[in-house]
Amino acid sequence: MSQLEHRIWMDRALAQARLALRAGDVPVGAVVVHGGVVIAEAANQREVDQDPTAHAELLVLRRAAAVLGSWRLEGCALYVTLEPCTMCAGALVLARLPLLVYGAADPKAGAAGSLFNIVQDLRLNHRVEVVSGVLADDCGRLLTRFFQARRGGPRQDREQGGGPRQNKGQGGGPRQNKGQGEAPAKTGGRSPRRDPGEAPQWPSRVPDPTPVPFPPAVESHSPA
Ligand code: ZN
Repeated sequence: MSQLEHRIWMDRALAQARLALRAGDVPVGAVVVHGGVVIAEAANQREVDQDPTAHAELLVLRRAAAVLGSWRLEGCALYVTLEPCTMCAGALVLARLPLLVYGAADPKAGAAGSLFNIVQDLRLNHRVEVVSGVLADDCGRLLTRFFQARRGGPRQDREQGGGPRQNKGQGGGPRQNKGQGEAPAKTGGRSPRRDPGEAPQWPSRVPDPTPVPFPPAVESHSPA
């Protein structure tokens, strides 16, 4: 597939990420492409569903499998705005996915080349081709805004405290099999609950040499 096609499909995944944002979830979106068309799309719904596994990739895999009538996603490409976590990377292997294309890398939790490379581990019975960095700046900016808006909020992300970071040195161009660039952690999500015993971790753990301009020039963060 051409880089132009990658960008087109990633743009569709970004639309899903914006839906997640409006719903109060960490803005991550995914689509599955098969035969040149999108057969499934999903947004991260962890907060909406209160389901720790309701990541966009897992949801879109299930929907694509239902459409195809097969758990083997042969001939499919999955586009996701953020590098998959360990859970989702494992699911991609189980689905025998041929191609993963992601936007922003996640150096704190990414399992497609950053922290782990589960999708290409030779000890497993399937390897996924990976293209990273597609529309990485757009994908990362959405996450950065989300986490920056939460900075003064009631709580930081429970699991990771992972703050968003701007992708670096990519120029928005896709690259093969390399988790380049700094990216926002995926987890988090708005929660109305306050956890007073929880110390914010992000500022101390994630010094950011290349902060994303905030507020952004485009797109309103606040949902209607
Ligand atoms: Zn995941």
